[in-house]
Amino acid sequence: MKNQQMDTRAFKRSLHQSENYHRRGFGNEAEIAEVLNTEYQSNLIQTIRNNNYILEQGDVTIHLAESFGFCWGVERAVAMAYETRQHFPTEKIWITNEIIHNPSVNQRLQEMNVGFIELVDGEKDFSVVNSGEVVILPAFGASVSEMQLLNDKGCTIVDTTCPWVSKVWNSVEKHKKKDHTSIIHGKHQHEETIATSSFAGTYLVVLNLKEAEYVANYILNGGSAQEFLSKFAGAYSEGFDPDQDLLKVGVANQTTMLKSETEQIGKLFEQTMLKKYGPVDFNQHFMSFNTICDATQERQDAMLKLVEEDLSLMLVIGGFNSSNTTHLQEIAIEKGFTSYHIDSAHRINMSNEIEHKPLDQSITTTSNWLPKGKITVGVTSGASTPDKVVAEAIAKIFELKK
Ligand code: SF4
Repeated sequence: MKNQQMDTRAFKRSLHQSENYHRRGFGNEAEIAEVLNTEYQSNLIQTIRNNNYILEQGDVTIHLAESFGFCWGVERAVAMAYETRQHFPTEKIWITNEIIHNPSVNQRLQEMNVGFIELVDGEKDFSVVNSGEVVILPAFGASVSEMQLLNDKGCTIVDTTCPWVSKVWNSVEKHKKKDHTSIIHGKHQHEETIATSSFAGTYLVVLNLKEAEYVANYILNGGSAQEFLSKFAGAYSEGFDPDQDLLKVGVANQTTMLKSETEQIGKLFEQTMLKKYGPVDFNQHFMSFNTICDATQERQDAMLKLVEEDLSLMLVIGGFNSSNTTHLQEIAIEKGFTSYHIDSAHRINMSNEIEHKPLDQSITTTSNWLPKGKITVGVTSGASTPDKVVAEAIAKIFELKK
């Protein structure tokens, strides 16, 4: 069914009323919080926090970003997954995707016998899931068709979708209701954006300001529809027509994009529609809601502050497919820092080699990454990275420089 024709709000309402649907945990939060503390928190990080985010040891000074690591949406999702295991001790439990983009957390869940739905030929293979089994939806949500399928199968659904992500879904539903096309700032293959676009009516995903400028120019001056469609292949709703579907637009975002860019894109379309339709009719042609998540904003702001320091190098820790971590890395690179993006402390070995992922490139190994003599290392981590992983990486740096 085409999204425009489907009342996704009504579907969500009826799903939320089902007794097989849970989105608030199962009442043993306190106990689970203690388990999570033991598994993911770190005394070393607490010490650095208490010391104004700086720690000096021998030749090394660590400067930690003032906001980094687990956001509350992620903490909540992980806690709910642990609670689900406890609440359904014998049932088969699945998760539709990585709960968050962090290898150590996902591995722990696997050890707890939570199965991940696998991709077969690019499609998720739900044939393994049977009626009565429990399925967890991750922090970045699931598409409406996945929810429908699991509901129809008679599964118990535990929905850990972050409320910030749900807020974006509500925005695109408002665009749909008013026949506005949702222009989504995001990565069209990212699970969160796939989910968001499933709640939208007509949509177009733009990756960055450059793509947004192309669209804005098309709105104002027209162009080749064919060129437009091939440029955005895979990033728009079925039947999208740039000549018909850009007359009324609303702006939405993947919650973990670069905040400054989301804001610029919002302003660009606001000005474009104002220019095209004038102040009287503007409101009929443009809608926008602020849906940048606080946690993403805080982490990026802290990084912008950190890159003002005099640092020898930067270490950015988080899943390689984590969008918010990659944006932190982008900030460091833009400021001209040598910055290493790793997903776990195992990437650092005791021969002073680091296996890391440069921006938009494959994983590579760099030797002698820690310079001789006194160094200052800036450290941050993405919203899906537990403190313990950051602490392990810092401990390795201290050890290497002993
Ligand atoms: S980064 Fe923001 S939107 Fe994403 S899970 Fe965390 S709080 Fe929610």
